[in-house]
Amino acid sequence: MKDILIIHTGGTISMLEDKNTGAVKTSDKHPLTDFSALLQTYANVEEMIEFNLPSPQITPKYMLQLAKKIEQVISLYDGIVVTHGTDTLEETAYFLDLVLATDKPVILTGAMRSSNEIGSDAFYNLISSLRVAVDDKAKNNGVLVVMNDEIHIAENVTKTSTSNLAAFKSPQYGPIGIVTRESIIFHHSIHRKHAYSPVHLSKKVLLLKAFAGMDEQLLKAVYHTDLDGLVIEGLGQGNLPKQTVKYLQKIIDAQIPVVLVSRCYQGIVQPVYGYDGGGKQLKEMGVIFTNGLTGPKARIKLLIALGQSSDKFFLKRIFEEEV
Ligand code: ASP
Repeated sequence: MKDILIIHTGGTISMLEDKNTGAVKTSDKHPLTDFSALLQTYANVEEMIEFNLPSPQITPKYMLQLAKKIEQVISLYDGIVVTHGTDTLEETAYFLDLVLATDKPVILTGAMRSSNEIGSDAFYNLISSLRVAVDDKAKNNGVLVVMNDEIHIAENVTKTSTSNLAAFKSPQYGPIGIVTRESIIFHHSIHRKHAYSPVHLSKKVLLLKAFAGMDEQLLKAVYHTDLDGLVIEGLGQGNLPKQTVKYLQKIIDAQIPVVLVSRCYQGIVQPVYGYDGGGKQLKEMGVIFTNGLTGPKARIKLLIALGQSSDKFFLKRIFEEEV
């Protein structure tokens, strides 16, 4: 049997519902450790608690701590399963995907319903992740997210529902595999990308979402903060209201990289429109267009990239070419 390490970090999968108040809360003892004997029927499983946090409290520093832990222990195991809160699971998964260089399976999972709620998916998702982690085909796919019988790559997956068990989807491309009663089926393969080693995570990278009627106010405020990078979820194929352009130009003139994704959850950004605030103008101003990433993931990538270098050509290459 293979050797798998389960690293618990918190989230609903590690919580219990208080039957008196209905509140779902962190519990001192991880509820799923009661099932350790059953886990051992799938692999030689060891478990550890790295931290026990609801995922809205997970920051890039915790993500880096987790990455370092995995780097430190990966040679001792055939694969790693990380349990995590679902709210920011996709950001941690993508962070790990960007910085880990291993070809071994690293799987993130969580639960939409805590262990003692009716119809809980907590133990089911953990078992499914374990089954994927021991499958030879899981290797070389980067960091994977296993939820609700589907296998997603970290780059594409996003939480699409606040409470439905089928919350995790990869909108543009779909999952790369499924978990069935009998087997693990991979139906897509992915091309592995470069792993970054961030020197530090001290840069300040902000994320803004464009909206109809957006004026200069937010960009002006951002310009006056001490920031190192900005990600904007723009409109459609990559456009902004024209009132934003003045302060956007000031931000770019101050050598602060601005990365543009779309607030649409499918499709790509490209410099199509020539009107004020249109993609062509933004591109000419020096805005970096990137594709296949949500705003939060583009922010994680910019944070990691800036930890390595703020060179304009480096940033353009990794955001515009390595996608
Ligand atoms: N709010 C919870 C968290 O992200 C949700 C979950 O884990 O499903 O920690």
